[in-house]
Amino acid sequence: MHVKINFKSYICVGCDSCVLMCPVNAITLINFKVFFDCSKCIKCKFCEFVCPMGAIEIQD
Ligand code: SF4
Ligand code: SF4
Repeated sequence: MHVKINFKSYICVGCDSCVLMCPVNAITLINFKVFFDCSKCIKCKFCEFVCPMGAIEIQD
């Protein structure tokens, strides 16, 4: 599945919410930096909805 994730790293506060919400463990947080594994992502958009900063946009 092709997924394009528009992630605005400069507004991410490293809260971990997206990591905890992702059902397929496609997101990891290392030293307050978020990394996406696009090959795992199933486009559920939970991370986009849960992010308090609006830092994530999952594109169709
Ligand atoms: S859209 Fe869903 S599967 Fe993809 S990274 Fe976000 S929470 Fe994980
Ligand atoms: S939910 Fe948003 S602010 Fe929190 S770690 Fe994820 S991208 Fe960053």
